[in-house]
Amino acid sequence: KRRAEINTSALVTSILNKDITALSRAITLVESKNPTHLKKANKIIKACLPHANKSIRIGITGVPGVGKSTFIETFGKHITSKGKRIAVLAIDPSSSLTKGSILGDKTRMEDLVKDANVFIRPSASGDSLGGVARKTREAIILCEAAGFDVIIIETVGVGQSETTVHSMVDFFLLLKLAGAGDELQGIKRGIIEMADVIAINKADGDNLKRAKVAKVEFNRALHLYPEKLSGWQPKVTICSAINNEGINSIWELILDYVTTTSKNNYFQEKRHEQNKFWLIQTIEEQLKFEFFNHSKIKKELANQLLLIETNKKTPFAAADYLLGLT
Ligand code: GDP
Repeated sequence: KRRAEINTSALVTSILNKDITALSRAITLVESKNPTHLKKANKIIKACLPHANKSIRIGITGVPGVGKSTFIETFGKHITSKGKRIAVLAIDPSSSLTKGSILGDKTRMEDLVKDANVFIRPSASGDSLGGVARKTREAIILCEAAGFDVIIIETVGVGQSETTVHSMVDFFLLLKLAGAGDELQGIKRGIIEMADVIAINKADGDNLKRAKVAKVEFNRALHLYPEKLSGWQPKVTICSAINNEGINSIWELILDYVTTTSKNNYFQEKRHEQNKFWLIQTIEEQLKFEFFNHSKIKKELANQLLLIETNKKTPFAAADYLLGLT
């Protein structure tokens, strides 16, 4: 049975009319491995691009259990109560490896899913973080064309994915817990450096006092970092996602950040820099993909690996040889 032909221009019109089903279908095309679908996806993205670029893109990270889904649910409700529309996308570094996922659990954010002003898309799957990231970048464009004012990119605070998220958002929010050492939370110094706001979550009940202490400590630590190019001094705050406390002040901080960095032009500059980064990144990914999928390379790679293993060839000579084949 032939599937119904997808009419790309009709899909674009629907996306621009804020039709979430159309948006979903377009993202599915973006995520597809089928070359015909990808061609269509590229057409759609091109048509959507002039209508993109208008949202606030917020990255949210934190270790599993810190309360990301709870926070996003509360935060999302807060934003929609202000008459704004919010899209949530996820980058899950585990999905490419294990096919299971830390994020994207269907039971998460139950209330939020029901809201017509909310769009939640679990993590794209892919063979590499780069591939997943590219799809997320394209999904951002589509969500913006569909009129979403706020786009959240969520990732787990383990491994490489925070850097990837940082490279596609305007604002980076790090969720933390009081009382757990950085080592315990698996958070590296680099991630703290990326944060525009650190929110210590679960600041409720017995935890409140500790959260306040942690706030002071983080504030002290943050002041040791050099001033950021953004002209924005990173802030530390406490919140309770579950009790909806401190959520509004985080939103206010984000708005402050946007005002400050728009005034000094950093906001737009950063987006330009990110676009340049993604151009290079996309070329690298594409070249790598084409190289390793080349029929000659597929045939010869194992042989060359064997030659290296048996010390008959240096890795460099093998690389030269393989590169010469394409
Ligand atoms: P995620 O893995 O980072 O997405 O974390 P979840 O949102 O799934 O939350 C992990 C656990 O922490 C759940 O049992 C939540 O109910 C709980 N939790 C989340 N936010 C808060 C909070 O502000 N206060 C308290 N006490 N518990 C919270």
